[in-house]
Amino acid sequence: MTLTSGNSLQRSIRRLSDYRFEVGMYRPPSEGGSASLLLRVTGNCPWNKCRFCEMYKEHKFVYRSVEDIKADIDAVKTMSDEIKDISWTMGFGGNITREVATAILRGNPSLQSNHCFITVFNWLYSGGKTAFLQDANSLIMRPHELVEVVSYIRESLSTITRLTSYARGKTLAQRKPEQLKAIREAGLDRLHVGLETGDDELLSIVRKGVTSEEQIEGGRKAVEAGFQLSEYWMPDLGGRERWRQHAENTARVLSAINPHYIRSRPFVPRPGTPMFDDYRSGAFTLSSPHERLEELRVMIERLDFTSRVCFDHAMNSWVDSHGGLLFSQDYEGYQFPDMKPLLLERIAEGLTVNESEHVHVRDLIALGAL
Ligand code: SF4
Repeated sequence: MTLTSGNSLQRSIRRLSDYRFEVGMYRPPSEGGSASLLLRVTGNCPWNKCRFCEMYKEHKFVYRSVEDIKADIDAVKTMSDEIKDISWTMGFGGNITREVATAILRGNPSLQSNHCFITVFNWLYSGGKTAFLQDANSLIMRPHELVEVVSYIRESLSTITRLTSYARGKTLAQRKPEQLKAIREAGLDRLHVGLETGDDELLSIVRKGVTSEEQIEGGRKAVEAGFQLSEYWMPDLGGRERWRQHAENTARVLSAINPHYIRSRPFVPRPGTPMFDDYRSGAFTLSSPHERLEELRVMIERLDFTSRVCFDHAMNSWVDSHGGLLFSQDYEGYQFPDMKPLLLERIAEGLTVNESEHVHVRDLIALGAL
């Protein structure tokens, strides 16, 4: 490397601190860890009333302008091109390697705590393939604006092969089929929806702001528009008081939607939420590990669909008779209906394990581990 190219490399490395775009806190675990580019198209949650949720509680919803979002996408694109140029100058042919990271961080140590740089570098290092639109409900955007944003991402960041987002079932139900189709055709591939429960009484108690009919309508519309759909449900959201109606109606609604994936997120009362206060006051009783498995059995038995059932979260931590995890926690889970008997067998095995061997959420709360 000549003296001139060395200086220009240093300038390029220093310039990486100049690029700014918004990065939010949350994304689904199945969105590739740090491999996904996070693009914040709206800020926080437009509903923000669910009684179990602590995610955006202190933050007001922000509707971002298309202009601002495009400026963020431009910043990502320029930063990404700059990093690739640095790789070329260093003789790595545009490949994003550990050596490139080491050289950049040595030349500009402040980038170690720069979220924008870390997000873009990790995304490129992982091949630049996946991106996730933040925050809680991108579908709340005016449909023609979301189409414009998604199209712009696809044009500007051409290595992306999968673009995904959170969406509320209620919003999906409110959208016209042709609007959803236009968003899908612009290049948004996958939606993650928090169903939580299919039981109307429980939906009202937890203030989810949606009925089971709307959940079904929204989910079906998403599938019909061509989205790959993941629906999340919360075992034990009804506690001992409402576990059976929760299990039966959740199975009813999920069977009616037939999404591509359903993902289990066992309920944990989070400090600072109204449901935590209910738990503390005794108005809500957590089920024991065996009771949770029994609820799961009732739900799984009733599922009549061709989805994949996934336990890709650490709270699905029941153990089997050898002390290992009862359920596989991989992102692809169990394909129904073929693997339904296997899953029911696993549940039966979990019920034979002494209950004290399983993790009880009550104990985690008492330990302050949540
Ligand atoms: S819609 Fe989602 S992010 Fe918003 S309050 Fe409910 S659970 Fe939380």
